[in-house]
Amino acid sequence: MKFYAHRLEDQPPENWEPLFTPFGNDGDQCQRDTCPKCASMNPNHGHLNKVAYWTAHFAAEMFPPGPDP
Ligand SMILES: [Zn+2]
Repeated sequence: MKFYAHRLEDQPPENWEPLFTPFGNDGDQCQRDTCPKCASMNPNHGHLNKVAYWTAHFAAEMFPPGPDP
């Protein structure tokens, strides 16, 4: 069964944003922290993947490694 993040009115389910895209090295899979589809907010790529990708990038900028100033 395929799960979706939400539906789009007047659009068939194949155009809805998927909830999650499996990780892997194939072009249709999520490339983790270097994923171009997450970076470009691709609408046909996993919603949770994009949330995790951007949360990690924002957190890395807010909390860089090293001692507190
Ligand atoms: Zn991705």
